[in-house]
Amino acid sequence: MKNPAKEQKSQNGFKLKLDMRTLFIIVFAALFFMTILSASSGFQPLHGERAISEIIQDIKAKKIKKLERQGNTITAVYKDGKRFITTKESEDSLRKILQESKVDPDSVQVEVKSNTDTSMFDLLINIVPTIIIVGFLLFMFRQARGAQDSIFSFGQARSKRYTKKMSNMTFKDVAGVDEAKKELQEIVDFLKNPKKYQKLGARSPKGVILVGPSGTGKTLLAKAVAGESNVPFFSIAGSEFMEMLVGIGAARVRDLFSTAKKNAPAIIFIDEVDAIGRTRSVSAMPAHDEREQTLNQILVEMDGFAPNDKVIVIAATNRGDLLDSALLRPGRFDRRIIVDYPDLEGRKDILAIHANGKPFESSVSWERIARRTVGYSGADIENMLNEAAIMAARENRSKISMGDIEESATKVKLGPEKKRLQTDRDKNITAYHEGGHAIVTHFQTDMDPVHRISIVSRGMSLGHTLIPPSHDRLHHTKSQLLKMITSMLGGRAAEETVFNDITTGASNDFDQATAIAKAMVVDYGMSALGPINFGPHQDVLEWGRTFMQPNYLAETTMTKIDSEVSKIIDQCYKDALRLVKSHRKELDNVAAALMKHESLDEDEFKKVVGEKKSA
Ligand code: ADP
Ligand code: MG
Ligand code: ZN
Repeated sequence: MKNPAKEQKSQNGFKLKLDMRTLFIIVFAALFFMTILSASSGFQPLHGERAISEIIQDIKAKKIKKLERQGNTITAVYKDGKRFITTKESEDSLRKILQESKVDPDSVQVEVKSNTDTSMFDLLINIVPTIIIVGFLLFMFRQARGAQDSIFSFGQARSKRYTKKMSNMTFKDVAGVDEAKKELQEIVDFLKNPKKYQKLGARSPKGVILVGPSGTGKTLLAKAVAGESNVPFFSIAGSEFMEMLVGIGAARVRDLFSTAKKNAPAIIFIDEVDAIGRTRSVSAMPAHDEREQTLNQILVEMDGFAPNDKVIVIAATNRGDLLDSALLRPGRFDRRIIVDYPDLEGRKDILAIHANGKPFESSVSWERIARRTVGYSGADIENMLNEAAIMAARENRSKISMGDIEESATKVKLGPEKKRLQTDRDKNITAYHEGGHAIVTHFQTDMDPVHRISIVSRGMSLGHTLIPPSHDRLHHTKSQLLKMITSMLGGRAAEETVFNDITTGASNDFDQATAIAKAMVVDYGMSALGPINFGPHQDVLEWGRTFMQPNYLAETTMTKIDSEVSKIIDQCYKDALRLVKSHRKELDNVAAALMKHESLDEDEFKKVVGEKKSA
């Protein structure tokens, strides 16, 4: 297969070379002529001017070797090499003058130098600097152009980059997104047998938009659709549309679509559609215009699809809320597919995909890893297993252990371990803080098990306690939410109980606890204020655009909300203090174990605190 991108590049290179060569030829030719001309008669020394009659005398006296005529200027070259200049009247010819002076015109050699010689010379003298300057400017311009990737070709040159790609991905390479796969299966089916649909008069799907957090497999799904239906795909990222000059985005869209149509059936994949126009470019160009133009061009192209164009546009974004509703109208991106974080079963399948080909110790429990990786995207999981493999390789082990996976799982989410210089007192406070979370969680009923506690600092945090949910919950009850808040406040409760003093380390806990408490009051109607939604709600305004409309609340209502939130927090904090005090012994043991081992896993923690008995 020919590679158009390469072709274009070499063509550009060739053109540039040609111009450079011409430039050099011009400059050298000019220098050459100047040298030649200056070496020839024009610049030979003159010995003065003489009247024409004198010269005629000298011709008669046979002192003159030859005459050179250039227009009306006559140079007499004497036999002794001297040169004298004279001028004649323009109406008289030299021959006539000689005849009238009784000199045989043939007795003297007359060399006629064409007039143009001088003018050529003058011309050259005049234009050479111009040529050099122009050439130099041209050269600079070319250089700049090379660097800027052809500013003046308005997306033309770049368009050739849309190389046809084939994908060898299939739906087997994607897991945990079964709904998305089911919907995309239709697209695959259409691309494979379009006739089946056309016979029934079904309008072909034009555009699919994949919405979901990053790393959940949107790009992967697009490739899988291309691979499954065995058609070429053309991909571009929204951020690539952002260029220096307004208008490039639109031109690119045009080229992209026409290239894809030529290769139909085909898939166009536009990644990060939300980025179109949202990035403020460095230039002073109004990014808004660019966005409008690019989006409009996409819409125009999609509207212009003939029923049998067999080109399907797949777009991906992680900001579904930012998309222009014009994009989502029927006949455009008429399908919107949510690609969310994988659930427990999904994570097991993704683990299986990426574990393939890596050697693991037999003690590795995939069930446990899947449970522990709540909130991990497919990309996180892939990253985790890769890190684990690196860890094992670094220590020259032939198999990846559970410990490697555990460590890399934490690293992927919380960042690498930080070897901070900490005093023992600092460490002790952290140990009691994390121990507080763990103890409060452990001794409440119906809570998920504490998976891991650590006082190794990573990223911004000094320690962490992981309590992943043991199954995916669709609902949270009010009592569960209260218990979660209590666990979050357990760290502070332990600090207060043990050190009779409090630290700044708990601010993140409070943020989370307050957020839950607020949601309980405002969104879920779980307070004395009753089942009223006080939160912002989506409102449909004119032109089909949706806005989040703040709920305008009376000041007294806001005061009531605030007091309900603090009631919840206060009650939970009291519970946390009570739990910490009644399990002080276990708390001390956990803190001591943490000081010794730095991290405890689920089993180690259970051994230290003993079996669960509720308070
Ligand atoms: P997105 O486009 O949603 O940001 P990608 O498709 O680029 O995510 O995912 C990055 C990588 O993470 C993929 O190449 C793949 O290895 C892995 N990955 C992500 N989601 C999944 C999934 N659902 N199943 C299997 N692998 C996945
Ligand atoms: Mg992507
Ligand atoms: Zn904490």
